[in-house]
Amino acid sequence: MMDLQLKLQDPLLLKAHCYVDGQWIGEPTDAVTNPATGAILGKTPSFGTRQAMNAVEAAERAFRLWAKKIAKERSAIMRRWFELIVENRSDLALILTSEQGKPLAEAKAEVDIAAAYVEFYAEEAKRVYGETIPSHRADARIVVGKQPIGVVSAITPWNFPCSMITRKAAPAIAAGCTVVLKPAPETPLSALALAALAERAGLPAGVFNVVTGEPSAVGKVFCDHPAVRFVSFTGSTEVGKILMRQASDGVKKVGLELGGNAPFIVFDDADLDAAIEGAMVSKYRNMGQTCICANRIYVQNSIYESFVEKLATRVMDMRVGSGLEVGVEQGPLISDAAVAKVERHIADAVRQGARLVIGGKRHPLGRTFFEPTVLAEVTTKMLVTREETFGPLAPVYRFSSEEDVIEMANASPFGLASYFYSSDLGRVFRVAEALEYGMVGVNTGLITTEAAPFGGVKESGLGREGSHHGIEEFLELKYMLLAGLNG
Ligand code: ADP
Repeated sequence: MMDLQLKLQDPLLLKAHCYVDGQWIGEPTDAVTNPATGAILGKTPSFGTRQAMNAVEAAERAFRLWAKKIAKERSAIMRRWFELIVENRSDLALILTSEQGKPLAEAKAEVDIAAAYVEFYAEEAKRVYGETIPSHRADARIVVGKQPIGVVSAITPWNFPCSMITRKAAPAIAAGCTVVLKPAPETPLSALALAALAERAGLPAGVFNVVTGEPSAVGKVFCDHPAVRFVSFTGSTEVGKILMRQASDGVKKVGLELGGNAPFIVFDDADLDAAIEGAMVSKYRNMGQTCICANRIYVQNSIYESFVEKLATRVMDMRVGSGLEVGVEQGPLISDAAVAKVERHIADAVRQGARLVIGGKRHPLGRTFFEPTVLAEVTTKMLVTREETFGPLAPVYRFSSEEDVIEMANASPFGLASYFYSSDLGRVFRVAEALEYGMVGVNTGLITTEAAPFGGVKESGLGREGSHHGIEEFLELKYMLLAGLNG
């Protein structure tokens, strides 16, 4: 712990306790490790059912006061929280890279978007408008208001330890809700650092609570407790389904951001170099560990060979190493299981005739470092077509017609992000509308921004996060019929 603490400008951001009802509590027992070195960075408490209930009840008490605060007051506190995140950007990025592994430049970019969500929703807090509707009765008026839904429970993954938290907590808190959050066990330190800054910003006790501990026990309370009105989850489809089932007993609203299996299509009328750049950022960002990473790259026949060659040349130049080293573009993967999945996908594809163009094995650095990999002549019968790799493997498929590639792209139970490159305006609209995905990047590999609605269709999830739509998830409509107005 000392090591990371010594590197921080503000060592007080490194927390070892949960944050509940404005108090730092719990015995630190569970080690958090640096995936690049295996060093223990710190410990956090292992909370279970009882402590999770206490956190929900603290949020329930805080809700009564927070929901009544005028929007401008909520906004001002959130604005302060945003400013503190920006001021502590370097420390937050250092904590993030240390526990998660991504290159420091990517960690800084993540802190920036994490801050941007808080800024955006600090502003949106003041713009929760209701409406009046022309009435069906002469003596009555229809007024529709919006009210915060109540206590929100949130469960977040390890791949974006900062931004996944503010993307949920900021709109909820802006709407007047209170939040109980369970971060991923791999990356709790970023979540606790954000809580420390929320405390400094003056967020009242109980409005934002962070508990670390037993995922299924805490998750059960987060779904079952009568005070919880909304369960917000980002993670695997498997766990998302468990939570949706659990939440159904209490008829709780759910927001789910689940797995993806993003197609990335390059038509022969595309700007090839731009498509290569897009594929690089979409595929290899966070070592391929994002739910919107290109998972299936479809390239039209006539440009197939040159695309594969150019991609391999770029991949060859990528530096692998600790995310803290300057110039490193690929850090370690999060775990051995993550590496094993990449190896399984490669072995299966090669066995069925795919060509290994570059990479394909563990990196000489050892641990969970893996060589960024490109596979060519990949076909739809291979495992990588059906499963999200979540690692630095680019499988490149061939296609001949627009019709065929749309069919291949849509042949998935998932529907989160999709990408394609084309310079034909007619095709741009045709393909964008035909893709059964919640998000389509056209001539770009980077789509995330706080201003746009992020989310998927099919088994990729329910609801949207970000943009003015994101705050609506945490608001209930209240219809009031004001009658007897004509005496
Ligand atoms: P990943 O495979 O990427 O770790 P998970 O869906 O397993 O994705 O994890 C995402 C989040 O869900 C983490 O915070 C994890 O602790 C939590 N989680 C895992 N299992 C459960 C469960 N049964 N109930 C509630 N939360 C869970």
